[in-house]
Amino acid sequence: MYRTFTDIDDKILNRAQAEGSTMQSVGDRYIAAYFRDIRRLNILDADEYPRVTEHIPAIHQLIQALEDKGYAYAVDGDVYYNVRQFAEYGKLSGRQLEQMQAGAGGRVDPNDPEFKKQYPFDFALWKAAKPGEPAWESPWGAGRPGWHIECSAMIQARLGDAIDIHGGGGDLVFPHHENEIAQSEVLTGQPLARYWLHNGMVTVNGEKMSKSLGNFTTIRDLLDGNWSDYPQPLDSMAIRLFVLQAHYRKPLDFTKDAIIAAENGWQTLKEGLTLDWQRLNLSSQMPIPGELDAESVNRFQTAMDDDLNTAAGLAVLFELGKALKREFNLRCYQGSSELTDRQLQQYSQTLTHLAQVLGLDAQPASIAELEIDVGWVESLLQQRQQARQKKRYAESDRIRNELQAMGITLIDQPDGQSRWHRS
Ligand SMILES: [Zn+2]
Repeated sequence: MYRTFTDIDDKILNRAQAEGSTMQSVGDRYIAAYFRDIRRLNILDADEYPRVTEHIPAIHQLIQALEDKGYAYAVDGDVYYNVRQFAEYGKLSGRQLEQMQAGAGGRVDPNDPEFKKQYPFDFALWKAAKPGEPAWESPWGAGRPGWHIECSAMIQARLGDAIDIHGGGGDLVFPHHENEIAQSEVLTGQPLARYWLHNGMVTVNGEKMSKSLGNFTTIRDLLDGNWSDYPQPLDSMAIRLFVLQAHYRKPLDFTKDAIIAAENGWQTLKEGLTLDWQRLNLSSQMPIPGELDAESVNRFQTAMDDDLNTAAGLAVLFELGKALKREFNLRCYQGSSELTDRQLQQYSQTLTHLAQVLGLDAQPASIAELEIDVGWVESLLQQRQQARQKKRYAESDRIRNELQAMGITLIDQPDGQSRWHRS
């Protein structure tokens, strides 16, 4: 699994110019913040994190190939994709060019800086640099890649012509993913992705989350207790539960009530996951360790096989959690029981196993542990080692900077190995 970072982009450039810094430093800062946040949510690492800046030659190749095949045209140092050349344009989003054109009205205005395009829905593959902007050399002059070509190039360079699953937010279907398809498929002649997984967007009290409405809350604010509606730190697992309770394709409405419900739901599961076995007076006959409750596992699996129906999967966990709690109360306070020791142990093991599948961990690592995750540091070091062997020095420097931003200093040894310590 790859997670790509767009580290060349107009928004990053604007931010860098406003701060008087560089795209690289803005990018590194946000990437480091991203890693800290997703680790706290117990999100698994990807196998690799390719960046646009490491793929400029691959981007050039792709643009050149599109130009050679007549799908792209250059104007004054810009290069555009000619969407009318691709008969299937719009197939992912279900849009048709004629309809879009009617809707676009007078978008081709000769006074508009976009008038260099031959057609309103043509999009930039390469953008000529304006004075003072960071730029990469190219056959079309100094400039930077357009957003869409970056993804097509990274996919082709790292994974090949076609991939199994392409993910992304629902807001990326058009034009971004539509354009990725247009770029890649005319060159490879095969579908870019066998499946597209688009997640729904987060709304806040039913409204779109947006800068102008000022209704932004960050994961970090929630975890640090800086959310005015609920001024105490939220359990990171409650946030996971909140997300898992909705289907991934549907919008996710962020409200105080929903968050409180998720906190309560997590407390229920947590009680089931952390039973005090000493108090349960199990009979001397030890149940079989690792044995799961097949019926619960089956129902969970059926739910997850149904386009990742995590809400139905969670229902299985809640049933197990409640049954365990009831059994605990019966045994500890009433001297009776409903479950056999073997069932009790099966339920408990099943709950732990399924919670693990969903990344719900009753004893998540502390922030201090997460800040420096030794296994992750080692894997980055290995990646850097390989980059250095293959003389990909930009990548090896980038990894060094990333580690630096996480508070880790590297010392390269004469034998080519590296040691590290906390800064
Ligand atoms: Zn993309």
